[in-house]
Amino acid sequence: MDKKAVFFDRDGIVNLKLENDYVKNIDEFIFIEDFFETFKIVKSMGFLAFLVTNQQGIGKGLYTESDLKEIHTFMQNQLVERTGFEFDEISFAPNLAIENDFRRKPNPGMILELLQKYSILPSSAIMIGDSYSDILAAKNAGIRSIQISKYTYEISPNFHFQSLAELNLKLQNILMEL
Ligand SMILES: [Mg+2]
Repeated sequence: MDKKAVFFDRDGIVNLKLENDYVKNIDEFIFIEDFFETFKIVKSMGFLAFLVTNQQGIGKGLYTESDLKEIHTFMQNQLVERTGFEFDEISFAPNLAIENDFRRKPNPGMILELLQKYSILPSSAIMIGDSYSDILAAKNAGIRSIQISKYTYEISPNFHFQSLAELNLKLQNILMEL
């Protein structure tokens, strides 16, 4: 089978987004329960799973790269325990928004790097995110997108669901088309 991948945003998809704050330690990292099912569907269909997350809290000095690694080690361990799988790779952009770094979403850098590294065609990849910047990053990288949000944006995703629970009912069908 040709390699296929799902790119995941983190805050608001894997774990609860904090209002006007950043996840700075594992105590603040609370999984969204329905994500485990989402992740299980993706991995059991043989897809690579990549996490692509903006972490400008590092650029702001609110936490360090090593704090972030600790959070992600915790996340990976919990995923293995709950689903038997973990992310194949985790990519983060520590830059401040005003720097407009090519890797920071809505720019496509992180997605393009991973597509290239794993020799995956853009047509064989899809992004799952909750923010406008996720949908735009996917579009900028030439891949499809699924938005999980109560709202829709001007730049429309290929698929839109109100919640991960709703997505989970359709995800297998969406991935089979890739
Ligand atoms: Mg998000």
